[in-house]
Amino acid sequence: MLKTEEMGVRLDLSEAEQAFQAAVREYADEFVAPRAAELDSLKRFPIDAMREMAAKGWLAIITPEQYSGLGLGHFDLVLLGEELNRVCPSTGVSWSVHSSLVTSPLITFGSEALKEKYLPVLARCERVGAYCLSEPDYGSDAGGLQCRYQEVEGGYRLKGTKAWITNGPDAQLFLVFATKDPAMRTKGISAFFIDGETEGLSIGKKETKLGIRASSTSQIFLDDVFVPTENLLGEEGRGFHIAMHTLDGGRVGIGTQALGIARGCLEATRAHVLENGLDKHQSVQFGLADMAVQCDAARLLIYRAARLKDLGRPHSREASMAKLFASEAANAAARRAVEIFGNEGIFEGSIVERLFRDAKITEIYEGTSEIQRLVISRFVLK
Ligand SMILES: Cc1cc2nc3c(=O)[nH]c(=O)nc-3n(C[C@H](O)[C@H](O)[C@H](O)COP(=O)(O)OP(=O)(O)OC[C@H]3O[C@@H](n4cnc5c(N)ncnc54)[C@H](O)[C@@H]3O)c2cc1C
Repeated sequence: MLKTEEMGVRLDLSEAEQAFQAAVREYADEFVAPRAAELDSLKRFPIDAMREMAAKGWLAIITPEQYSGLGLGHFDLVLLGEELNRVCPSTGVSWSVHSSLVTSPLITFGSEALKEKYLPVLARCERVGAYCLSEPDYGSDAGGLQCRYQEVEGGYRLKGTKAWITNGPDAQLFLVFATKDPAMRTKGISAFFIDGETEGLSIGKKETKLGIRASSTSQIFLDDVFVPTENLLGEEGRGFHIAMHTLDGGRVGIGTQALGIARGCLEATRAHVLENGLDKHQSVQFGLADMAVQCDAARLLIYRAARLKDLGRPHSREASMAKLFASEAANAAARRAVEIFGNEGIFEGSIVERLFRDAKITEIYEGTSEIQRLVISRFVLK
């Protein structure tokens, strides 16, 4: 096991990174924050923000320049993600699934033709992307998925149901994981890109959720859907590897979402405390101190995992640690924030009420806290 001091990763920000962080913070404060409560209340997908960010290149941060991207790193995804999630976690996850979960495996595993076909389209938000791994009976145990594919002339045919798919109702491009034979478990799984208008693909009803209500979620039904050979992502049988490789980055993304939520809670609570003269109470002071520690500790873990990813070094353990710690920190910070706000923290329209509801999902998707502990303990016991 690597010791922290042997990792040799930078945790400070370069001048370019600081400038990028300032630009995304300004955008989040000016354009995302004012719309967040209304989008949440109306459960409306943040398509305006997605298009605005596409115009700035922010849906294609890690996409190489030759495919209309900015050619930056996963660390820059973290910088943007923290600022966005601080004010609107619904916008944060919609953006993250599109520009990380769907875009990243295409960059890493896609053929030249597939990259040319879809990366510029994703960069410009001409199609919103969705990542379809989970199924009604297979969430944590994704290796057991049942959605089947069969090889046919010129491609493949897919049949099955995907569940809890973020962006599902608003997406036009689906990254779908399916198996040749469930008995082959992880070895039978392959990954396919499917256009939304393909015959046989249909979208379930939009789910109503506790939190991240402006992010859309649904089932995806595949009824004998034809996928041309060129839309296979990577090699046949490598789908599970692609899914897990992608989730390492995704976990850094959800950790970042949780960090943003914790920081949003800290900032809102600090302002509330000062405005209302609550700063004289020691219990309130200590609450703010705990939230500040949780934010900084989460940020350091996330920065470490993102830097390792950008260096092309193993980071499964670090990504799981970052996601586990940050998601638990976000929930602790949100709980404390609501308590310090008192009455005002309970009512709709208060930012901490929304962040409290939004925080819970960070402990569930892209691997529950139990699954993160399983991953981490395997490294500890190696
Ligand atoms: C709002 C939302 C958005 C989502 N977006 C997407 C998406 O875009 N794409 C996608 O593919 N999926 C998505 N998911 C699915 C999500 O990743 C799964 O819900 C998650 O992995 C948990 O799976 P599950 O709900 O089936 O729980 P289960 O796997 O049934 O787990 C239930 C409980 O048992 C525990 N458990 C299960 N297995 C173990 C084990 N081996 N050891 C210890 N404890 C265990 C879990 O920790 C949990 O507490 C989303 C889910 C939600 C709620």
